[in-house]
Order: sequence, then structure tokens, then C-alpha cells
Amino acid sequence: MKFTWIVFLCFLSVNVLAQKTGRPVSRVVLVIHGGAGVLERGKLDPLREREALDALNRALDKGYSILDSGGSALDAVEQVVRVLEDDPSFNAGRGAVFTAEGRHELDASIMNGKTLAAGAVAGVTTIRNPISAARAVMEKSPHVMLAGRGAEEFARLQGLQQVDNAYFSVEDRRKSWQQQRRRDSLATLKDSSGKKTSSILAPGEKFGTVGAVALDANGNLAAATSTGGMSNKKFGRIGDSPLIGAGTYADNKTAAISCTGWGEYFIRLVIAKSVCDRMELGHESLEKAADILINEKLPALGGDGGLIAVDKDGNIAMPFSTPGMFRGYLRRDATGMQRQVAIYKE
Ligand code: ASP
Repeated sequence: MKFTWIVFLCFLSVNVLAQKTGRPVSRVVLVIHGGAGVLERGKLDPLREREALDALNRALDKGYSILDSGGSALDAVEQVVRVLEDDPSFNAGRGAVFTAEGRHELDASIMNGKTLAAGAVAGVTTIRNPISAARAVMEKSPHVMLAGRGAEEFARLQGLQQVDNAYFSVEDRRKSWQQQRRRDSLATLKDSSGKKTSSILAPGEKFGTVGAVALDANGNLAAATSTGGMSNKKFGRIGDSPLIGAGTYADNKTAAISCTGWGEYFIRLVIAKSVCDRMELGHESLEKAADILINEKLPALGGDGGLIAVDKDGNIAMPFSTPGMFRGYLRRDATGMQRQVAIYKE
């Protein structure tokens, strides 16, 4: 009898401890992307490939350390995206693409699936980590989106780190921008003879946006996306990444989504929220809803790209219609840990 009680008390205390610390068997899931685009096996510089995969692994490590110690999905996605923003391999933060004026304009958004609170910044040029500015907009202002100089002033008042715009420049990105400008001027020449239109929006040419979605030990979902947008963009062009519903969405009732690809099409299809709506109203699985948007609706309109998603039950989807997408995930539950990073179609 005494022994039974001891066993029962041990069981109880392990479980109380487990609940307090988020250990040992609570389920946590993290999915990340570093952009979808023309990434063909054998064509990417092996060194660049290695650097990008290492960065994805560092981002997963960062997110896991937060989720494993009982931290929130919201903290995990913000911190993971900061790691990717700081890494020059991706088109977000340092390493952002060049605008037509040879500068950098960054967009980011974040959403809390528990409360449906959301925050975003667009067209910012001096905030080192736009994702943290998006979170500050969500938590420290009555607004959802701030743009340009106002967003920068707000971030400065919040004590977020400011940098010179040149901080975001990396040589690789400058070279591809210069190549693109040459192609575009040729295209314009051809255009005047009626043969060809500009290549600025050629399918699959843009990649490197970053994003993260997570499910924490308390069952809360969150999503975050950050980008330099589209190379050679002008006139203050803004894509889907900072638009809640288009590039980012999270709702504890359904799923957390972060998108990457040809932003204009993601905006027109309101892709992130559409996945959640199909799940909630059409009772589709995450996999099916995500697949229909990325592999049917998006190409039907002429767009391309991909998304990462996790649903409230921990299911993962990572569909993309481009040749590749930098991506990774980890899932830890009672059965153990699964973890992977990848670029190409399997
Ligand atoms: N969706 C981003 C944009 O259109 C670009 C990308 O994901 O590569 O700004």
C-alpha cells in the first residue's frame, strides 16, 4: 500500500514538474524557411549551399532552446527570424536584395495565434532586425502596421538597434542585382521593338525571404516572416511578407503560416489566411489546404513560391512550386525528436 502511494506521488511530481518545465514529453514543433526560388540541385555554389544549411541549423537550435525550456511560440519565431536576418545567406536583414536605387527596404510581420494580435513594418531602411520592430508594433502600439520613416522613428523610441543602410549590403546580392539590371536594360531595348517585356518579375527569380512558425508546449501557435522583398524593386513596392493574411498568419484554431515567393500573387490570393479558412470552414487538412493554394491556385494565376506551416495538432506542411526552398523543421514529442533541413525537392 505504502509502495503504491510512493509510486503515485512520484508519478504526480514528475507530471507537475513536467508541466512546470515543459518537460519531458510535451510536443513542440518548429518549421523554418529561407526562401523559395530557382534553386536547382548542382547549380548552387557548394560553399553557399553549406553556409545556408548551417544557418538553417543554427536557427533551429535557437528556436529549440526556447521551446524546450517552455518558452512561447512567439518568442521562438521572433528569435529564429533574428538569427536568419543576421545571416547574409538570406534576403532578410543583412543580405537583403538591392532596390532599383541600390539601397535596401525591408518588410516583416509577426502574429500570435493565441490572441490574433499582429504587428508589421514595411519599407524600413535602418532597423537591424525588422522582425523585432514588427513585434514591438504588435505589443507596444495600438497599430498593426507601420511603414517607412514613421516605423523607424517608432523603433528608435523602442530602443531597437539602428544601423546604416549599407549594413544590409553583401557582395553576392550586389552582383546579382547588377546582372539583373543589365538583363532588364536589354529587355527594355527589346521591348521598344515590341519583342519582350521586362524581366524584373520573371518567375522563380526571387528567393531568400525568411520565416518561422511554431507550436509551443502550451499549444500556442505563432508565425513570423521577414524579407528584403524583390530585387530591383522600385516606387516603394511592398510584397506579401508584411501583410497579415497574405504572407503571415497564425490562429490557434487552425495553423500558423509563413509564405515566400512572388509576393504580388500571394497578396491577390491572401494565401496564409486562405489556408486557415479552408481548414476551419472547409474542414480540409493542413496538407491539403496548403497544397491547393501553392500547387493549384498560385500557378493557375501565374505566380510561384512556397509556404511553411504547422497546425494546432503539430502537423507540418512545406509545399513549394519552385525548384527549391530553403527549409527545415523539428518536432519533439513523446516518441522522440525528428529534425531535418533541405533545399531541393526530395
Ligand atoms: N514574398 C517576397 C516578396 O514578394 C519575396 C520572397 O519571398 O522571396 O516581397
